[in-house]
Amino acid sequence: MNINFTMLGSGAVRNNQRRGGPAQVLKIDNRVLMFDCGRYSCTNLARVGIKVETIDRLFLTHLHFDHIINVPYFVLLGWNNGRKNQLRIFGPEGTEQFVTRSIRPPFEQDISTRLGHGKDPFGLDPEVVEIREEGEFFAEEAYSISALFVKHAGDMPTFTYRVDVGDRRIVITGDGLPSQKLTEFCRDADLLVSECSGTPEFLAQYPWGAWHTTPKTLASMASEAGVKRVMIKHFVIEDITGDLTAAQRMADQISQSYDGEVIIGEDGLQVSIP
Ligand SMILES: [Zn+2]
Ligand SMILES: [Zn+2]
Repeated sequence: MNINFTMLGSGAVRNNQRRGGPAQVLKIDNRVLMFDCGRYSCTNLARVGIKVETIDRLFLTHLHFDHIINVPYFVLLGWNNGRKNQLRIFGPEGTEQFVTRSIRPPFEQDISTRLGHGKDPFGLDPEVVEIREEGEFFAEEAYSISALFVKHAGDMPTFTYRVDVGDRRIVITGDGLPSQKLTEFCRDADLLVSECSGTPEFLAQYPWGAWHTTPKTLASMASEAGVKRVMIKHFVIEDITGDLTAAQRMADQISQSYDGEVIIGEDGLQVSIP
């Protein structure tokens, strides 16, 4: 069994030229699972040699635009390129409406010209699965996947996903705050890929700062959960301050109270799960 994680987009909302918006893939043998689909994610798929049309499982953590802005391009490009398998998009309540409104209506003229040339409509309309409850919601082949609601922006439903492959466990957060429940969800994970948006001093300056994880809270959660490796991402602090040392400083802060390996997410970075 070959399990390989690739960070596609380690950035957040802002137009950071070094970091695409949130997106990542987990490859389990030939199956590719994609998590979030932020700015630049399709281009970064090309950079790591994965064809968009070969991905037919997309999991959205929540509907903040930085995490989903590339979904129409992902769907339309996959259709254009000749998708072979039905695309299934999983996400929180609201995903169906987002997909229905963002693919066909704005691109009606484009779509009708292509269909007019005899293009097969297969692959244009994703099947959407809205996840309403926590826990395992899908399993196939060698893996199962579970979702946990995390506290993020007001009432916006936001998930952290966990993939279990035999006794291997990978946890991928969207945005949001650590909690006891999330700690249990991450128990003994081989890899925890977590947002780490900024230092407490930085986040305290903004009304949305309270929506996000800081190095210290992440470190204590990862320690308590017995997580083996942590990869951090979603560096809002870098976007706003322009300080390119911020991610390293946050990784150092995590290492002060967490013994496992801390990896700074970079676009295109691949990690295998032995
Ligand atoms: Zn975000
Ligand atoms: Zn968010």
